[in-house]
Amino acid sequence: MKIKNAEMLKVAVKKEQYPKEGPIEIALAGRSNVGKSSLINTLVNRKKLARTSSQPGKTQTINFYSINNDEFRLVDLPGYGYARVSMKEREKWGKMIENFLTSRRTLAEVILLLDIRHSPGEHDKMMYNWIKSFGYNGIIIATKADKISKGKWMKHKSIIAKALGVQNRELIIPFSATKRLNKEKVLNLIEEIIKV
Ligand code: GDP
Repeated sequence: MKIKNAEMLKVAVKKEQYPKEGPIEIALAGRSNVGKSSLINTLVNRKKLARTSSQPGKTQTINFYSINNDEFRLVDLPGYGYARVSMKEREKWGKMIENFLTSRRTLAEVILLLDIRHSPGEHDKMMYNWIKSFGYNGIIIATKADKISKGKWMKHKSIIAKALGVQNRELIIPFSATKRLNKEKVLNLIEEIIKV
C-alpha cells in the first residue's frame, strides 16, 4: 500500500458532526499517550498531520483523516486513561466511542494500540473486549517497540496476549514510529482490510 496523500477531513464530537459515510474506515483506539498520533503521522509520512503531545488533557474528539483522495479513512478515537479525568468526562468519552462504534456502517476495523512495554490496564481490557464484542478481529499494534530490544518482542507479545486472551499472536504487531519499525507491515495490513 502506497500512501500518496492524507488530509484532515473532520473533527467531530457528536454524530451530526461525522463526515458523510463514504469509503472504508479504520479506527484507532488506545490510551492517551500510547502513540496514536505518531502512528498516523508515520504511516502517512507527515510530521504533524495528527497532533502529538505528551501533555495530558488533549481535547476529546474523533478525528477523521482522508487518505489517498478518500481511498480509505483513518479515524483517531479519543484516548482514555487519565487518572485525573472526572467521572463525567469518562462517561462522555464512553458515549462518544459507543455512538461511533454502533452507528458507523463503513467502519471495517478498530485497531487497539498498546504500549509494548506494559501489561494492558483495565481500560485497555475493556476496550479490547468492546472491540471483539462488536465483531472486529482485535488487531493490536504494540507501540514504542524501539524501547525494548527485538529479542524481547515475543515475550512482551505473550504478556499482552495472555492478559487479553488473544488466541492468535500474529494479531499483535510491534511498531515503532521513531524507528519506523514494521511500518510496511501495518500498511500491508491496512491494504488487506480495505480490500475486503
Ligand atoms: P497519542 O496521545 O496516543 O496520540 O500519543 P503521541 O503520538 O502524541 O505520543 C505520545 C508520546 O510518545 C510522544 O512524546 C511521542 O514522541 C512518544 N512516542 C510515540 N510513538 C513512539 C515510538 O514509537 N517510540 C518512542 N520512543 N516514542 C514514541
